[in-house]
Amino acid sequence: MAPPEHVCIIGAGITGALIAHRLLQLGVRVTILEAREKGAGSSSRSAACIRQQFSTPATVRAMICATRRYERFAEEFRCEPGQGQVLIQNGYLFLYGTEDGRWQAAQDNVAMQRANGLDDVELLGPGEVVERFPHVDGSLLAGATFCGTDGFLAPDVVYMEAFRRVAELGGVLRQNAQVVSGSVSGGRLRAVQTEAGEEITADVFVNATNAWAPRVSASLGGSDLRIAPVKRYLYFVKRGTQLDDETLLSWPMTITQSRAYCRPENGAQLLAGWAHPAESEPNFDWTDQDLIEPSFFHKTGLDNFGVQLWMQLAESMPVVGEFAGIEATTSGFYAVTPDHNPLLGFDPKVGGLLHAAGFSGHGAMMGPFTAEACAAMVMAGRDLPSVTVDGVEVDLSAMRIGRTFVHSEGMVI
Ligand SMILES: Cc1cc2nc3c(=O)[nH]c(=O)nc-3n(C[C@H](O)[C@H](O)[C@H](O)COP(=O)(O)OP(=O)(O)OC[C@H]3O[C@@H](n4cnc5c(N)ncnc54)[C@H](O)[C@@H]3O)c2cc1C
Repeated sequence: MAPPEHVCIIGAGITGALIAHRLLQLGVRVTILEAREKGAGSSSRSAACIRQQFSTPATVRAMICATRRYERFAEEFRCEPGQGQVLIQNGYLFLYGTEDGRWQAAQDNVAMQRANGLDDVELLGPGEVVERFPHVDGSLLAGATFCGTDGFLAPDVVYMEAFRRVAELGGVLRQNAQVVSGSVSGGRLRAVQTEAGEEITADVFVNATNAWAPRVSASLGGSDLRIAPVKRYLYFVKRGTQLDDETLLSWPMTITQSRAYCRPENGAQLLAGWAHPAESEPNFDWTDQDLIEPSFFHKTGLDNFGVQLWMQLAESMPVVGEFAGIEATTSGFYAVTPDHNPLLGFDPKVGGLLHAAGFSGHGAMMGPFTAEACAAMVMAGRDLPSVTVDGVEVDLSAMRIGRTFVHSEGMVI
């Protein structure tokens, strides 16, 4: 099959931006249709952490590729001098308690991660944790894993710089262009229509709409995607005078025994989060992204979720308990699949529609890999069993659409 001449990408978050850029590099004409404005979805509401420590071998390899690409982002996207520094590699520290049944699995995962090329992941005993990270209380620890090349991203810089480069390469971004329907003939998607009544034809369409992906797929005649939009909250905790900027800025992303997590947002604030039991919200509206339920708002009483999270963090990092207070609560949607791996590939029901969605809380970090894998499949016109990025081969079967959801990703936060 001949490579496509024109690809239409639906959704202008990190995923859409990076796929568009990769296809333009490969000489394909690209149009991006965005319902609101670039970054209107989860990409601007993300904790934006990046790690290679996963329990699925393909994901470990994919994140090694993504990390290397983010390291070279400024160069690859031809950023102005001093711009495009999107990655801060303070590392990721996973803490495991003495009562934690996951410690053995964590050690097994480290062996698997090393076997898949993650050379710099370390197993630390409680004494080593305290020596290297004095803010952590080691008394209840069985151990920890740490990877120094993990860290966090500046997500707005990723999509803003990517779209700047997309425009330079001739890509067209249409904002306020919500896709509402599609025209299928001969079993293939030929065109999509926007809310304003415009029609865009293309050889291939990419559904990069994250939490909206199931409804976009349905509106285009595509498959029922097993993606659940699930609300997640983030909190910004102001430090006190116990620490200076430099010390806070040096902290790694830290995931406590209870899976509450935090990382420096800047020299004055920690960004913190904690998954809570939540129902899927398949019919969420645009404004629901920023709707904060009272029990999750940091100013609601003393027992709101944010304060509980803050106290939880303090159990593992006592100095955090002395911080000045929570300054802000934000929220957005995870797009969660049953096994927490994404859906990457062509729709089995309608031709010409490729999905890149269901990142289950790790789509920002995966972006550069997603772009490589999806561009390779778009160029081939079919699903691929694997993709090789910068010499690293990644098996795509764990991400294939239509798989049975048997092997769940175990390191989910
Ligand atoms: C609180 C929180 C914390 C997170 N933490 C992390 C983290 O630490 N690390 C990480 O990697 N990821 C994290 N994520 C997940 C990450 O933010 C997402 O996986 C990632 O941003 C997905 O990018 P995207 O471009 O696929 O989707 P989005 O950024 O959601 O973009 C989808 C776009 O599609 C558009 N759209 C929807 N419907 C239509 C339509 N019909 N027509 C046209 N356009 C449409 C939307 O307006 C939106 O702009 C977090 C998410 C949340 C909410």
